[in-house]
Amino acid sequence: MSSLAGKRALVLGVANERSIAWAIAQALAREGATLAFTFLGEALERRVRPLAAELGAPLVLPCDVTDDAQITSVFAEIERSWGSLDILVHAIAFANREDLAQPFHETSREGFRLALEVSAYSLVALTHAALPLMKSAGGGSVITLTFAGSSRVFPNYNVMGVAKAALEASVRYLAAESGSFNVRVNAISAGPIKTLSAAGIRNFRDMLHVAEERSPLRRNIAAEEVADAAVLLAGDGGRGITGQVIYVDAGLSIMGV
Ligand code: NAP
Repeated sequence: MSSLAGKRALVLGVANERSIAWAIAQALAREGATLAFTFLGEALERRVRPLAAELGAPLVLPCDVTDDAQITSVFAEIERSWGSLDILVHAIAFANREDLAQPFHETSREGFRLALEVSAYSLVALTHAALPLMKSAGGGSVITLTFAGSSRVFPNYNVMGVAKAALEASVRYLAAESGSFNVRVNAISAGPIKTLSAAGIRNFRDMLHVAEERSPLRRNIAAEEVADAAVLLAGDGGRGITGQVIYVDAGLSIMGV
């Protein structure tokens, strides 16, 4: 079953083989999509290039999402090479470590700005840049990653929860505007998964234990389960879904206690 044969996907947010973006990239490739990756800085380039090569990805481009010029050149390169784009995977988030450790009310102005810019505004900027290429393709699917800390309080998630709330609201506004071009915009709200970013959240292990104990499925989720939901949203199976936050969390979000 090659449900994404002939589709072209840009994946942002692979830091290493534990990244959710990497699981998604593997699943998109399995379904026949051709991939492009971005990396942030030289250290990550060394890690991303061999992974991209594993999936035969022809494009591996630098992109710090705080830099408009880098976003512009990524999409210029995609236009030159492909002429269009079908799928955009946004799996990027950042907050200063101290803002995930100290009380939330101590968040600095700069820490707040940075977390919101990298984790939420970047989706707006990237979707804006992707839209003309998705119009050329006759439509497309934008997928971002969020967490339940957007609407409920998780200890130490702090400013990242505020950023995820902004991200989810951005998904709805972007979806409303992009629908007439047959471009869909959705978020997957993943349960906790041990990744590089997760390691920056103090007591993340407690979050994993609680999720395992309390979720209806009595277990944590794997990145591959998020990836399979991304395949659905990327392809024909998701053609009627836009503006949504879809939970892949073993059901944890339905529980009151
Ligand atoms: P990850 O492997 O660390 O991926 C996060 C990525 O964001 C990294 O590649 C990181 O690069 C990149 N990034 C940070 N600042 C950037 C910038 N200015 N420009 C471009 N890229 C930048 O962690 P992950 O857990 O897979 O995270 C992927 C997404 O899933 C995030 O949005 C995260 O909030 C979300 N999510 C994660 C979980 C979880 O439990 N792991 C649950 C729900 C949602 P650097 O490593 O260089 O900073």
